[in-house]
Amino acid sequence: MVHYLSNKELADIFARIGDLLEIKGDVIYKILAYRKAADTIRDHARPVKDIWREGGLRDIPGVGQAIAEKIEELLTTGKLAFLEKLQAEVPASLTELLQVPDLGPKRVSLVWKKLGITTLADLERAARAGELRGLPGMGEKSESKILIGIESLKRATGRMPLGKAWPVALEIVRMLRAIPGVIAAESAGSLRRGRATIGDLDFIVAAADSRAVMATFMTLPQVARVLGQGPTKTSVVLENGLQADLRVLPPERYGTLLQYFTGSKDHNVRLRELAQARGLSLSEHALLREDGSEILCATEADVYRALGLPLIPPELREDRGEIQAAREGKLPRPIELRDLQSDLHTHSTWSDGKGSILEMAQAARLNGLKCLAVTDHSQGLGVTNGLTPERLRSQRREIDAVQGQLGPGFVLLQGTEVEIRADGTLDFTDDVLGDLDLVVASLHTSLSQDRERVTARMLNAIRNHNVDIIGHPTGRRLPNRDGADLDLEAVFKAAAECGVALEINSNPERLDLDGMYARRAVELGCLLAINTDAHAVDWFDHAQFGVLTARRGWVTADRVINTWSSEKLLAWLDERDLRRGASSRPPEVVAASAGASAAATNDAPRPSAAPKTATKGKPAAKSAAKKPTTKPAAARATTAKPARPKPAASSPSKKRSTKR
Ligand SMILES: [Zn+2]
Ligand SMILES: [Zn+2]
Repeated sequence: MVHYLSNKELADIFARIGDLLEIKGDVIYKILAYRKAADTIRDHARPVKDIWREGGLRDIPGVGQAIAEKIEELLTTGKLAFLEKLQAEVPASLTELLQVPDLGPKRVSLVWKKLGITTLADLERAARAGELRGLPGMGEKSESKILIGIESLKRATGRMPLGKAWPVALEIVRMLRAIPGVIAAESAGSLRRGRATIGDLDFIVAAADSRAVMATFMTLPQVARVLGQGPTKTSVVLENGLQADLRVLPPERYGTLLQYFTGSKDHNVRLRELAQARGLSLSEHALLREDGSEILCATEADVYRALGLPLIPPELREDRGEIQAAREGKLPRPIELRDLQSDLHTHSTWSDGKGSILEMAQAARLNGLKCLAVTDHSQGLGVTNGLTPERLRSQRREIDAVQGQLGPGFVLLQGTEVEIRADGTLDFTDDVLGDLDLVVASLHTSLSQDRERVTARMLNAIRNHNVDIIGHPTGRRLPNRDGADLDLEAVFKAAAECGVALEINSNPERLDLDGMYARRAVELGCLLAINTDAHAVDWFDHAQFGVLTARRGWVTADRVINTWSSEKLLAWLDERDLRRGASSRPPEVVAASAGASAAATNDAPRPSAAPKTATKGKPAAKSAAKKPTTKPAAARATTAKPARPKPAASSPSKKRSTKR
């Protein structure tokens, strides 16, 4: 008898085996083999059970003899003797502890064997009671880190990054639209609103007869199990583990249905209040008048029009002032994907990318872009094959050659993604940075530093006159690793003041800045950049997620430097060069981090310059110099290599800008 297990369920079992073996202390290659199998099964386009029926298990990458036998055992008996034996040796709940950031298998094993802790609740209690600090290699600090980790885990559970859910939803919508009788189909919910993580999927269909649609939906290859079925709604679990609901109504009611299930809940509460004020009640079926008659809405625009509003873009429907703005005719026209003209943060095979400079440039051009900056990692980030100053010089020669090949219609820039080191200094000297066309500075390490220290570090980077863009500012990883504990108000103010653009990183694992923060940054006068951080040619597609995130932040095209023409962008970069050449900046500029940490605690005098004037951070630097602090982060930063003023004459000379 065949036991029906979805790809997700099979993958979860192999991932669990990997975790249990790791807690037990088994050999690493075995652990990795199970994890690799779990990953390939999870992402496989076809149900593994079908592949097994065809006898093709061993053709799946990462599935060898041992794993193929286990899949077969699971599919024929629904059980796995190997796993049962492991579970008898290691409590299964321990695998949950592995999800806590900063708590690796060694520590899980330790808290289990020494303190008998087997569940998250036990762990939380022990950390609060200070019982972990007695264990080897653990202290008060690890206890508080573990508590923070448990908190972020609780928030994130069960959600999937937008970029992972998106292609699945897109494919299902395509299949729904192909069913005869379907007039319209759309995916709704938080996916349509572009939220960074997705809890479940909602599909909305307009069709006169729902039965055929429901029947086809249940047999889609992505569907693992049917949870419930009725004339207007069917619920299923997909192979990837997400729940998906399909709702079908006749076309004349499609507008109310789509509007209702796009949400958000809070936005819909406001709309219902508006409806009530007009003597109407709004439901997923229609607007109902007090006399019981209905107003049918075939489109969402009809729904909003009936309430006296223009159509509000889905990404804005979060009850964050959008209804008020719509009533007053002040809705923004948020940025669109087609507005992007450049990508200013990408990697090539020179560091950890998968495409050559030529391949990346060609892919960017195919994606409609006019300008690409290659920003490979700097030397300090060892695992990523970061570039030394010597390799940067050889890379410049290749970039010049590729530029020659591409011709004048496409602009290729040499940049770097320079590491902001743990002490707040940058990984290249100002001389090296000054020779590049563009500098992205990013935090990758020591993200768990306390707020004051990590903020000072970031402000130091922003105030370095060579930095043009801050990459993925908070460093968060979706779905469940929080970013650095930055004082973002202080960061945004400094960025506005120095004219440094803050990135919305389009990688679906990042989407950093988040929409809410992007909105605040723009309010404070910041410029933004939307970059893919592409490490391979097919990553340019991710730009759509960066744009969705920006739209959630009400961001308009004019605030995003990637929407500028190459000419305008180059003029901006040149202007920054000239300014940095002209401003002789004494060493106390770096000591600005002292002012930064003071600003973080809101007791520093604010620079009086209006944010948009974007003069370099002189006022803050001066106030900082007058107000030294004895705080450790600040002290460390002041010992950092001072930003050397660049002689005006040398600044543009070696660079692309003068070669044009
Ligand atoms: Zn990065
Ligand atoms: Zn990067």
